[in-house]
Amino acid sequence: MNKLLFFWMIFVSFSCASYLEELKWPKGETFLTFLEKNNLPLTIYYTLDKEEQELAAEIVAGVRYQVLKSDDEQLEQVLIPIGEELQMHLKKVKNEFMMEITPIVFQEEKHSVAIEIHHSPYIDIVKATNNHGLANEFSQSFKSGVNLRSLQKGDKLVLLFQQKRRLGKPFGSIKIDASMLETAKKQNYIFYYNENYYNQKGEELDNFLLTKPVNYTRISSVFTQKRWHPVLKKYRAHLGIDYAAPTGTPVRSAGNGKIVFAGTKGGYGKTIEVSHDGSYKTLYAHLNGFARGIRGGQRVKQNQVIGYVGNTGMSTGPHLHFGLYRSNVAINPASVVKVAKSSLGGKELKEFMRYTEELKQHVETALENGEEPRREEEFDNFSLLEKAHS
Ligand SMILES: [Zn+2]
Repeated sequence: MNKLLFFWMIFVSFSCASYLEELKWPKGETFLTFLEKNNLPLTIYYTLDKEEQELAAEIVAGVRYQVLKSDDEQLEQVLIPIGEELQMHLKKVKNEFMMEITPIVFQEEKHSVAIEIHHSPYIDIVKATNNHGLANEFSQSFKSGVNLRSLQKGDKLVLLFQQKRRLGKPFGSIKIDASMLETAKKQNYIFYYNENYYNQKGEELDNFLLTKPVNYTRISSVFTQKRWHPVLKKYRAHLGIDYAAPTGTPVRSAGNGKIVFAGTKGGYGKTIEVSHDGSYKTLYAHLNGFARGIRGGQRVKQNQVIGYVGNTGMSTGPHLHFGLYRSNVAINPASVVKVAKSSLGGKELKEFMRYTEELKQHVETALENGEEPRREEEFDNFSLLEKAHS
């Protein structure tokens, strides 16, 4: 009940008869089409500054957003998450709508789960926890660790993970601090460390390596989930890396994949999105144009030229905005774009060993206790509160 109360505190200036709905952002919807659909003035969008318009292009299909409506179905407030730290907060103030970017309030939880394998790790994790994000993340992390097809019934799996929760529901990306798969009497560990997965010897796992998408002159903006601009007194985020380069410089696909979008995307201007193996997606924005024949549905190879650097959309000079997403959540491309995988050594390895030794003990405890998993609830569109509130 506290969460609901808290909800009401976020929505500060609602009228006395309102109700709250949680919805999933539809595929193909943009912030502009959302305003149009709800008969809201489009000036809300056009008066946003450059960076806010860029952020508005970051709304992800499927994201859960909240709407506060009056009893006569009029929109009063809307909360739309952008990345993992910020949200767009649309609200009516003295009969006029305004948009403000505010921090998302969430809790960070640590969980452990111990399960027996009956079908496949993915299916068994979902059965036990109803948490698809967790199952996805596990499959990703273990891909190059163990041959998952060679598992036997009764093999054991332990996961220690961190989950964010917003308004009672899982939110954002999941970090699996340690996973242990026991098969053929052998324990196989994978650890999350320094934004990457490692085996127990401190060798980085070759999950997904991207190449740099452009020859750039300098990095003009780095990735950040949340930043406070002290002069503008606004929250900012930059969910990608900006590579400054002259107009017309070739932009190359950072990995093998399939083009899922090639067109204009709000503040990002001419944009290409490529989906890759294992729920990764890359985004290339502000392009001057696309390479010949580039369109949705087409397969591309790593390093293939897909477009050219430009200045389209909300951009102050020619550059490539490069975004990386895992399971639709923006992550820092700098952690994945690199030349080769690395092994830890020296002092760093010692530190890693100390850190993982502790996690291993947690795993052992979870294994002994047969840790009951937390089950996530099924999500449907629903109204949190139906009744008038005064
Ligand atoms: Zn950018």
